[in-house]
Amino acid sequence: MVDRHGSGTPASPTRDGLPRTVPEGGAATPIPGAGPGAAHLYVPLPFCAHRCGYCDFVTVTGHDGEHGGYVDAVLAELELERGLLAANVATVFLGGGTPTFTEPAALARLLAAPKR
Ligand code: SF4
Repeated sequence: MVDRHGSGTPASPTRDGLPRTVPEGGAATPIPGAGPGAAHLYVPLPFCAHRCGYCDFVTVTGHDGEHGGYVDAVLAELELERGLLAANVATVFLGGGTPTFTEPAALARLLAAPKR
């Protein structure tokens, strides 16, 4: 297998047979935008109206009423990592699930948190 990253670590095959983008044992070079001062967040919101058979995302259905609790857990984790974030977070990318399926009040609390 080809070492595409020049790390000296042979690339390992993955489930789909493609080379890893990060060598085993961690990244050989810092990931741009990661670490102290990170200004961009990715937050997965796993709630979906239905489960699609072809989907590889971690999703749940039938958890109405639990979106607020999930957001509480995300906010607690965010508070633990606050020291790694930039003072002003520039981007919050919402991943799925289906982010727009999240209860609006919970979504609003999540999006307000990085501004504190
Ligand atoms: S994330 Fe999209 S594709 Fe996956 S189960 Fe939910 S609605 Fe379906």
